[in-house]
Amino acid sequence: MNIENLLKYQKLDQELFAVEQKIANSPYRKKANELATLAKKTQTKSVELETEAEKLLAQIEDLKEKYATNKAQADKMMSGKIENMTVEELDKLSTLQKAISKNLSVLEKMLQKSAENINHILAEFNKTKKLYDQARTQYVTCKQKLDEQTKASEPEKAKIKKQLEVLEKDVDPQIMADYKKKRNDNIFPVIVPLENGNFCGRCRMELPKVAISRLKEKGIITCEHCKRYIYLKQE
Ligand SMILES: [Zn+2]
Repeated sequence: MNIENLLKYQKLDQELFAVEQKIANSPYRKKANELATLAKKTQTKSVELETEAEKLLAQIEDLKEKYATNKAQADKMMSGKIENMTVEELDKLSTLQKAISKNLSVLEKMLQKSAENINHILAEFNKTKKLYDQARTQYVTCKQKLDEQTKASEPEKAKIKKQLEVLEKDVDPQIMADYKKKRNDNIFPVIVPLENGNFCGRCRMELPKVAISRLKEKGIITCEHCKRYIYLKQE
């Protein structure tokens, strides 16, 4: 197994990895994700406010209805002929009038309070809507910048990939397939040297003696811990 060719491949692959990482860690990507979360949050809030407003409007309708009923009752009483009433009837009428008048004043206050609440919800809704619109606009800009960045990196990536294809031919196909699989799983570097005689060059896990002798025999082994290839560095 020719380790040198694989190392040569990986050295070039490192450049491709760096370009990919630059895009993956782009501040635009981070910002776009944040904005998407914010947009979602404000959207949820809008729906909540809408539901609240609907409930409140139903309450207001109910209050209005009660107010109208009370008012009609009061008007009806006022139009009654009091000349024909007995003293008890007049007393009863007076008590009822007072009760209805009290009801009306309570209902009026409730209606006023509900109107204030609905105005508050409306203001809150407008504020939330504005936040959503802002987040949405910024998201589009960010996404555009990220797409531009990605697109700008394509020629360089294509160039490296083409060179990699050439180098690939000098590597054992089985090892190459395995390398690519690891690379796809975001394992990089894929192949690392054995360090201090018995440690994985990446995760520093101490390797058992049996693994070391297998490494000496085959030239390459897989680290049980970080799944990387370990090779024996020529001194
Ligand atoms: Zn390891």
